[in-house]
Amino acid sequence: MAKRDYYEILGVSKTATAEEIKKAYRKVAIQFHPDKNPNNKEAEEKFKEAAEAYEVLSDVNKRAQYDRFGHSRPGGGGYGGGHTMNMEDIFSQFGDIFGGGGSPFDSFFGGGGRGSQRRGSNLRIKLKLTLDEIANGAEKKIKVHRLVRAEGVTFKTCGTCQGNGQVRKVVNTMLGQMVSASTCPTCQGSGQIIDKRPSGVDSSGLESREDLLSIRIPPGVADGMQLSMSGKGNEAPGGGAPGDLLIMIEEQEDKDLKRDGNNLIYDLHLNFVDAALGTSVEVPSINGKLRIKIDPGTQSGKILRLRGKGIKDVNGYGTGDQLVYVNVWTPKKLTSEEKDILERLRSSPGFQPNPDKSEKGFFERMKEYFGQE
Ligand SMILES: [Zn+2]
Repeated sequence: MAKRDYYEILGVSKTATAEEIKKAYRKVAIQFHPDKNPNNKEAEEKFKEAAEAYEVLSDVNKRAQYDRFGHSRPGGGGYGGGHTMNMEDIFSQFGDIFGGGGSPFDSFFGGGGRGSQRRGSNLRIKLKLTLDEIANGAEKKIKVHRLVRAEGVTFKTCGTCQGNGQVRKVVNTMLGQMVSASTCPTCQGSGQIIDKRPSGVDSSGLESREDLLSIRIPPGVADGMQLSMSGKGNEAPGGGAPGDLLIMIEEQEDKDLKRDGNNLIYDLHLNFVDAALGTSVEVPSINGKLRIKIDPGTQSGKILRLRGKGIKDVNGYGTGDQLVYVNVWTPKKLTSEEKDILERLRSSPGFQPNPDKSEKGFFERMKEYFGQE
């Protein structure tokens, strides 16, 4: 089998610096790492090939010899010390390149290895809020059932994995011996097992407990938003950090005010006498009733904008408006006296529709409304 050029394998030029070679290897190693490519022989092959290339090119003497003679080194033998590298060799290299001791998985697959398994799991709850709570913010007390470390439980280092959280299995393959790492079956990756436990506590040493937590809801949250309380999720078996409590906001619909982003919309119904003669009316708002003035001759469909009376933006970008949508209500049932009065007005000159340019039709108003958003 013809060997590929080491520079080509790492995708670097022949004049690449040591730093460039290291960077390139890191990229290739991460791409073809067996953890990311389970049961993929081709990736495994590429992974080993890259490790061998790096072993030669990262060593000044070996690189110089390789530059002179290529793969056909006089005196025979490969550059990898005459043997094909196994995974154990490759992993021991990682310590040098990726820094620090311990498992290479931790150092460059953050979160994928035992680190995340040592942590307690996140808890998710839904929290219903009224419009008032959303507008003004709220301090909510919530009950959560969390897994907490039971009293009287002690832990000791797991004997199966020596506290590493991982076990290594040696597998014989065509390419020689492969060492693969997997989560320790005894401790499930925590590296700790229970030592002493009172009766009634399970093998993880955790028990479910109801906690009453207090959470501050900032003004302006919206349906579907998620807040998180760090460390208020389930505790971890062993010595890990607890998970987070994730709170999903559910907005309860208000009977009067509809929310549109940070704006609030209110439908106002006026009789046509009030619309024609003008009046003042009370409308609900998030801060109680507001009195607003209705000008004489107000048309149905007019939108009155109450600036700053909407919802405060959750990220601090100002405050929305309350929009009062005027609906002039047409009576449906009339007494004969009412009918008589209206009949007299039917052909009265002031009652003939004669909209001027400022009285925009439906489409113009919609354009105006969305344009101002
Ligand atoms: Zn273990």
